[in-house]
Amino acid sequence: MPELPEVTVISGDVRALALGKRITRAAVFRDDVSNAGVEGFPKRLVGKTLRGAGRRGKVVVLDFGDVVGLVHLVISGRVKRLDAWRDPDKEHTAVLEFAPDGPVLAFTRLWLGYFDLYDPEKVNEHPLVSRLGPDPFSEDFSPEYLRKLFGRRKASVKGLLLDQSEVSGLGNIYVDEVLFAAGVHPTRKANTLHPAEIEKVHRAARDILARAIELRGTTFDSYHDAFGETGEYQRELRVFDRDGEPCPTCGTEIEKLRVAGRGTHVCPNCQPVSSSGEPRTATR
Ligand SMILES: [Zn+2]
Repeated sequence: MPELPEVTVISGDVRALALGKRITRAAVFRDDVSNAGVEGFPKRLVGKTLRGAGRRGKVVVLDFGDVVGLVHLVISGRVKRLDAWRDPDKEHTAVLEFAPDGPVLAFTRLWLGYFDLYDPEKVNEHPLVSRLGPDPFSEDFSPEYLRKLFGRRKASVKGLLLDQSEVSGLGNIYVDEVLFAAGVHPTRKANTLHPAEIEKVHRAARDILARAIELRGTTFDSYHDAFGETGEYQRELRVFDRDGEPCPTCGTEIEKLRVAGRGTHVCPNCQPVSSSGEPRTATR
């Protein structure tokens, strides 16, 4: 599923391809793909010019002036550049044609996600945007914010970092990587983390997400950018999907367990379950 880095790349691609261009055709496959429905979707978009493309959490935000498109790609959704117009179908769930000189963009597999249209002043009321916690690259996401958040919660630190209403944009892959980098076991109760560990989580979140954006995301299953290219961050994943392999730091076998309902990857040596702070001596 596209997380913060992938959604950043996708919105940047849409900007590169279509900024300043006008929509000449627009269609969705079914009424449930957009709150505007099959009939309302082209009515509200045709003739509009793309003025900007960005991201709120994991939602792509397309600014068309007096209407804003909010695209949630969920699981395996993608933005694809097509050679020519095609009517939407089960795969190409929403299609936009821009002029002059294209492009035609398909937003695929939105049956679990959507392409909603909102008035600009109402964007903050969208159910997925209204409850978003601070973005990891925002000023609000400070070590102080995490200290306060963690201090009053007994939930697992992984569960808390996955909760979009507490921190927006992180998903399963990057939370595992962040907690490994910080040396924090994902099952630790948030209120047991020491200030130094919280600092590490904070720094790792920004560093890892920034590096993943630089490498244009992680292609673990279906993710591709709008140019059809895969990301490259999967080569730098240190624990995610590496269960059974040696830890890159200490050589201990990486384990897979279930935390907060998600498959979770840990080095039991570098990320001790106890909150004593220091990992056991490395077994190189
Ligand atoms: Zn290790």
